[in-house]
Amino acid sequence: MNIVIFGPPGAGKGTQSKFIVKKYNIHQLSTGDLLRDEIKNGTELGSKISSIMNSGELVSDEIVGDLIEKFISNENYKNKIIFDGYPRTLPQAKNLDILLKNYNQKIDIVLKLNVSLETIKKRILERKSIEKRADDNEEIVIKRFQTYEKSSEPVLNYYKQTKLLQVVNGENSISQINNEISGLIDSMKG
Ligand code: AMP
Repeated sequence: MNIVIFGPPGAGKGTQSKFIVKKYNIHQLSTGDLLRDEIKNGTELGSKISSIMNSGELVSDEIVGDLIEKFISNENYKNKIIFDGYPRTLPQAKNLDILLKNYNQKIDIVLKLNVSLETIKKRILERKSIEKRADDNEEIVIKRFQTYEKSSEPVLNYYKQTKLLQVVNGENSISQINNEISGLIDSMKG
């Protein structure tokens, strides 16, 4: 089972992914985490992307495409991935389908977390005091939200056509969202 979790920054994708990983014994692939690791480890790629990430823009489709291919091609993760933060653009969504097909896999469900900008601001400011992410300040959060609004619509339309899309109310409590997501995954598995 491969899952895509989709939603604006601060929607709870990471929190919910960790819950799904534990409950269904699959692996989280967070492109944001992988990119932050590159910056933390001082790699050549890290120095190229840090200013882009800290401005709230998206890094190139090619860079994130390479990162996810490493994961998808790994037999240990076959049909056991939750994509957290990928795809974010239409070319990424198409690339994901092609890559999965090349490795005899597919997406089983796309979970979209719906959250308002007001809630996001509140959550991200709370997270800032815990995770100390460089891009978690109000100005950049608004920019990241705008970036999401711009790039997400074609992705959502793409998944609507495939009937994989399930919308979840991300304003609810963490455990309510857990329950809703479990119900959707369980009914999809039959
Ligand atoms: P996240 O941790 O998912 O909020 O991602 C943090 C930042 O990493 C984003 O604001 C982007 O700059 C970059 N990023 C993460 N995933 C992607 C992606 N799929 N495509 C492009 N940029 C990404």
